[in-house]
Amino acid sequence: MADFPSPNVWLEIVGHRRHLHRNPEVGIELPKTHAYVIEQLRKLSLVPEFIEGAGVSVLIHGLKPGWRPIVFRADMDALPVTEDTELPLSSLTSGAMHACGHDLHTAVLLGVAKDLVSRPSFRDVILVFQPGEESHRGAVKVLEHGNLQIETAETFAVHVNSIMPVGSIGFSRGTFMAFGDWFQVDIKGPGGHASAPERVGSPVNAGADFVLALTNLTRELTTDEEKIVATVTEFLCGNAVNVIPTHGSLRGTLRAVSELRRDRLHAMMHDICGRISIEHNLEVTLTISEGYPAVVSDPDFVMEFEEVIAREGLAGMLQEMDRPSMVIEDFSYFLQRWPGTMVYVGAAVGEDPAFNHSAEALFDEDSMRTSFALFRALAPVASAN
Ligand SMILES: [Zn+2]
Ligand SMILES: [Zn+2]
Repeated sequence: MADFPSPNVWLEIVGHRRHLHRNPEVGIELPKTHAYVIEQLRKLSLVPEFIEGAGVSVLIHGLKPGWRPIVFRADMDALPVTEDTELPLSSLTSGAMHACGHDLHTAVLLGVAKDLVSRPSFRDVILVFQPGEESHRGAVKVLEHGNLQIETAETFAVHVNSIMPVGSIGFSRGTFMAFGDWFQVDIKGPGGHASAPERVGSPVNAGADFVLALTNLTRELTTDEEKIVATVTEFLCGNAVNVIPTHGSLRGTLRAVSELRRDRLHAMMHDICGRISIEHNLEVTLTISEGYPAVVSDPDFVMEFEEVIAREGLAGMLQEMDRPSMVIEDFSYFLQRWPGTMVYVGAAVGEDPAFNHSAEALFDEDSMRTSFALFRALAPVASAN
C-alpha cells in the first residue's frame, strides 16, 4: 500500500487508538479527549484552534500555494454503551464505549498530522477533530472554527464499518447515507375504568394501532432502490392493571434517502395520527424534529478520488454500494459547504461481527492502514508531484 504509515507513525496511531478506546467520552464536552488531541498536535509544533464545545482544528500548510485546500474530519465522541468485548483495551468507563469506532478516526488523523509535518503535501490540509457526532449536531458547531472560514476547499472523511471486511472501501457517487429525523406521538384522553373500555378511548390501543400502521407504511413505501425506515424505539403508557390511562407517548427514528419520500413519509404519518384520533376518540399529536441531512458525495470529487486511489494501487479495494446506507452522519454539513465524500472503511473482526453501536462491536486496527492511505492519497507528498 502506497504511503503506508512509517513504522514509528503506525506505532503512534495504534497507541492513540488504544488510549482513546480506554478513555471514551460521550457528547459534545469531551475534556480529556480534547486535551489529549491538543497535546499531541502541540508536540508536533502545530498550533491547534480549540473552541469549547466545538472541538479542535489545525491548519498544516502545503508547499505549493494556489492549490485547493482539503479539510479532513475525524469525530471523537463515544456512545452511552457499556462495553462487552472483553478486550484488554476495553473502556475503563462504565456506560461509555467507542462502539462507533470514532477512536480509530481520531487516531488515524493524529497519525496523518505527524506524517504531514515530516512529509508535507503540496496543498494546505485542515484537520478537524469533532465532538458530538452522535445526535449532538457537533459538525455545525465545529464549522464555526476560524480555520474553516474558507470558500473554496474539498472535504473528506472515513467511517469504519465493523461488518465490512478489512481491505474494503465502500463508496457512493451520490447519496451515501440517509436523511434522519426523530418523531414523538403524544396521545391524550379522559382515562377510565378498565371494566368499561367502550366508554373511553384507550391510549394503549391507539399506540399499538400506530406501531402497526407505521410498520405497514414503511413496507408500502420501500422499493428495491429506496429503503424507508421508521422505527418505534419507546412506547410509554399506563401504570395500573385496572385503569385505562389518560395518556401515552411513543418516540422513534425515521430514515429516508430522497426528500420526496421523506416528505411523503411525514405526510402519511400525519394522516395515520389523524385517523387514529378519530377512531379512538383521543387527542393525538405528532411532532417530527429534523435530524441530519443526507450525506451526499460530489460526483466530480468521487471521480478524482477514484483516479487518485487507482494511482496508489488501491482500486481493487473500492466497492460501490448498491444503495445508500440507512445510517446518518453529520458530516453531511461539511458536504453542504464543500464538495467531497465520505467512505466506509471495512474493519470487521471474525465470522459473525456485531455492527457499529453494539456493546460487542470490534474494529480491526489494520483498517487504520487503509484510512491512513486514503488521507495521504488525497494530500500526497509534495515532492512526488
Ligand atoms: Zn455512530
Ligand atoms: Zn459514527
